[in-house]
Amino acid sequence: MYTLLDGKAVSAKLRGKIKENVEKYKNNNGKDIGLAVVMVGENPASAIYVRNKIKACEEVGIKSFSYYLSEKASQNDVERLVLSLVEDNAINGILVQLPLPEHINAEKVLGLIPAKKDVDGFSAENTGKLCLGEECLVACTPHGVMKILEEYGVEVKGKRAVVVGRSNIVGKPMAMLLLNADATVTVCHSKTKNLQEECQNADILVAAIGKPKFITCEMVKDGAVVVDVGMNRDENGKLCGDVDFDKVKDKCSYITPVPGGVGPMTITMLMFNTLQAAQRG
Ligand code: NDP
Repeated sequence: MYTLLDGKAVSAKLRGKIKENVEKYKNNNGKDIGLAVVMVGENPASAIYVRNKIKACEEVGIKSFSYYLSEKASQNDVERLVLSLVEDNAINGILVQLPLPEHINAEKVLGLIPAKKDVDGFSAENTGKLCLGEECLVACTPHGVMKILEEYGVEVKGKRAVVVGRSNIVGKPMAMLLLNADATVTVCHSKTKNLQEECQNADILVAAIGKPKFITCEMVKDGAVVVDVGMNRDENGKLCGDVDFDKVKDKCSYITPVPGGVGPMTITMLMFNTLQAAQRG
């Protein structure tokens, strides 16, 4: 019998704690905590994410500042805005919603955000510190995965962890967090040979691929902990993960559902990072 790793419940609990600490910060410092959200163009999926982030800010008492630039904004326009937010003392965290329009050099824009305001945890400095095991703002999605495991008392130390996916925002920081927590980590990707065999070795299997129901029953070891980061649409347009949940679940000791698993944790960890950014000053 498997246990469902309920990200929604963990997220709600964590948001309650964040809210308390935001309140404490405001009382002790006599000022608000501010998160700036920058969106360029009109990507409908991004608009939903941005709305949810603003809603989460309201929930925990963080003041959000939203900036919408048109699709036609120039590199200079975007950079000027971000630089003004870097200088603004009311802003503790800056988030530039990706993807940016094609004519904008995203790397250059993100590079303007100093590590202490990089609440997405994507900057070279925060990524480097994560590798060195130093205190830093950690990428929200993999950080959320670690919080779920912690909340359910899933032991990571000494376990074989396999991460499928090596993106800079999910796969790589996920592998680093598991390694920092003393797992023995393997990272797989599209060029991995014998993927099935690699996955079968996993005590903890994290799927961050972006392909619906890609992880099948044959790839999962009996009793494994399976974490599904994927957010895809199936053939009927229904939200689904990278794991074939219905077929895999009975082999697992723990498994995250999609929706309601990792997804809710990402924005919660953004709130957590914004609070941390303010506390560190
Ligand atoms: P990317 O597309 O950046 O990375 C996908 C990774 O999967 C790559 O490393 C790629 O390998 C690997 N991959 C692709 N095909 C295969 C294959 N056949 N076998 C093995 N590995 C493969 O995606 P992201 O990391 O940004 O996101 C992954 C998933 O997580 C997506 O579904 C995304 O929507 C979701 N996501 C969910 C979030 C949440 O809040 N729950 C937040 C962020 C992402 P290679 O490097 O060789 O190309």
